[in-house]
This record gives sequence, C-alpha cells and structure tokens, in this order.
Amino acid sequence: MREAMLYKKLPNSRVQCNICQWRCTIGQNKFGVCRMYQNREGVLYNLNYAQASSVAADPIEKKPLFHFFPGTLAFSLGGWGCNFHCQDCQNWEISCPESGEPWRGSREVQPQEAVELVKRYQCQGIAWTYNEPGTWFEYTLDSAKLAKENDLYTVYVTNGYLTPEALDAIGPYLDAWRVDIKGFSDSLYRNLAKVTRWRGILEVAKRAKTKWNMHVEVVTNIIPTMNDDDQQLEGIANWIRDELGELTPWHVTRFYPHHHMRHLPPTPITTLEHAYDIGQKAGLKFIYAGNVPGHKSENTICYSCGKLVVQRFGYQANAVGLEGSKCKFCGAELNFRASEAERRSS
Ligand code: SF4
Repeated sequence: MREAMLYKKLPNSRVQCNICQWRCTIGQNKFGVCRMYQNREGVLYNLNYAQASSVAADPIEKKPLFHFFPGTLAFSLGGWGCNFHCQDCQNWEISCPESGEPWRGSREVQPQEAVELVKRYQCQGIAWTYNEPGTWFEYTLDSAKLAKENDLYTVYVTNGYLTPEALDAIGPYLDAWRVDIKGFSDSLYRNLAKVTRWRGILEVAKRAKTKWNMHVEVVTNIIPTMNDDDQQLEGIANWIRDELGELTPWHVTRFYPHHHMRHLPPTPITTLEHAYDIGQKAGLKFIYAGNVPGHKSENTICYSCGKLVVQRFGYQANAVGLEGSKCKFCGAELNFRASEAERRSS
C-alpha cells in the first residue's frame, strides 16, 4: 500500500483523486470507482502497489503494438481493478475483483525485481497491460523510472482515461501509448463502459504523442451492433488521421463473446474488412485486422513502393524491409520505433 501521488484533500476528511478522469471524490473509508484507491483518515492510498495478478513474457505484437520494437518480448504485468466496467471485458476476473483485498495470494513484484525479471526472461522492456495501468499508477511510475535507467522500453496498454497531469508525471519515462478508442459516440461509451465523458481520452492520446513524443497505436475492438456502424468507424479513422497522423497504426480487432456480451456473435470477417476499407479511405496507411491469425492485413506493406516490410503470422514478426523507422527499399517513413535514437529524432 502506498499513499497516492495525485490527490487533493477536501473538507471533512474527503479527498479527490486526480489519477484518472473520473476524479473521484471519496469519503472516509470509501473507495474510488476503480476500488484500488481508498480514503483512510483523509489520506488517499493505492491498495495494490506491486501486487501483480498476471506476469508473462509476451511478444510485443500481442499488445498489439506492430510498429514498436517488432519481434521483441515485453515483460508484461497486470494488476487489479479497472476504472471502466466494460460489458465485453476479456479480463474481468482481474479487472472486476470483489471488494476487500482480492490481490491476497497474487505475486508481489517490486520495481527492482521487475527489471531483473525483464533481463532474466530476455525481454527488451516492460508493458503494464491486462488491466488498466492507472489503477496502480504509483507502481508503474516507479517501475518506469527504473526501467529507463536500465535502457528498457516502457509501454502502457490503456483505456486512455488518465488525467493530463498523470500523463505528464509518467510521460518522461513512457515510450508507447497503446490506447483503445472503443467507439465514437456518447452512447457507445455509456452503454459499453458506463463512461459519460469520453472525449478526454482523445485529448490525452494526442498529448502523449505531441507533448511526450510517445509512440501511439490505436485499437478498436469491433462489436456487432455496438460500434460497427460507418459513422463511428469513420469518426475514429478521421480523428486518427487529423490528430495523430496518417502513419498511426489502427488495429480493428475481432470481438469474441465475453463477460456480459455472450449473446452477441463474433465479429464477421467482412465487418473487419469493411472497417479496413474505411480506414484506407480516410487516408490511414497502416490498418491491421486483429484476432484473425493469417489475415492478409497482418503484414506491414510499404505504402510507397508496395514491398513487404514486416511479415507476421499471429504474434510472430519478421522485419524484412526495415531500416530504422523507414522502408529499406524506397526510404519512405513508416513510423517504426526500434531504438532510443528513433524516439529522440522523431
Ligand atoms: S484512479 Fe480510481 S479512484 Fe482515482 S479517479 Fe480513477 S477511478 Fe477514481
């Protein structure tokens, strides 16, 4: 347990948490929406510091991040809880724990040990993933600082709901922002995630790129009848093009029935391909259909010369045509990160 880093003390021993955009006002002994921050005697504590629910050496492609150190392993850590309560959550056992201390019995991984495990498992960096990293923000910040001291890359796999001030606290130590944009309407975010003010996600994603020069990739899990209409898909694609740039990868992934959405069918492949076409029409250069191993869009093809640059099958990647961030055949900029130098120069 650690005292929270970003909160304000209020009258009558209440506090306001400023880690994510809920900005929960929390009374004595109460919890925030994520249930991982608690007000004890007017002091806000994070309850699950270093308490990992899941630990694995994953291919970076599994996050998915396709233009970031392709073919490497990311030491992946998940905590507990979430500030969203998505109907289609694939990891609901860890993101929706019962109240109390569900992390008892989970593995304690202090930041120093995380860095040691990265090296032992021959990973090149750390990804906070599986649940929302903001629910153990202080832990990810301490670990990210240590990771950068050890020349490791750092990745947030996030719903994007951090506040700008939380982003600014971790920005100097974070290399990649793999963010969900779940849809492009108030009703979608309300019905899917019980979130009413979602547009701050867009602002923070743009800030991650422009202020902190993070590598940004966007995922939209396409759910039949929820976010598969042209209006929302065009909204996302156009926003990515205008605010993050046409070279930003957009992953349109296949939904499989989960959690409270078992009544819906898996996303038809034709729907993913339609989303792909919408992305192309908007001018995006890199659109990938996800959760469909072997799909032709898994590879990276240079938009300029048409040559194969990264060959993929599932989580395997083979960079055959990359020179730094560029196409080795024609020199076109492809927005890849594979070294610290690219972070500094892009
Ligand atoms: S991190 Fe948790 S407690 Fe803090 S504002 Fe977000 S949901 Fe509320």
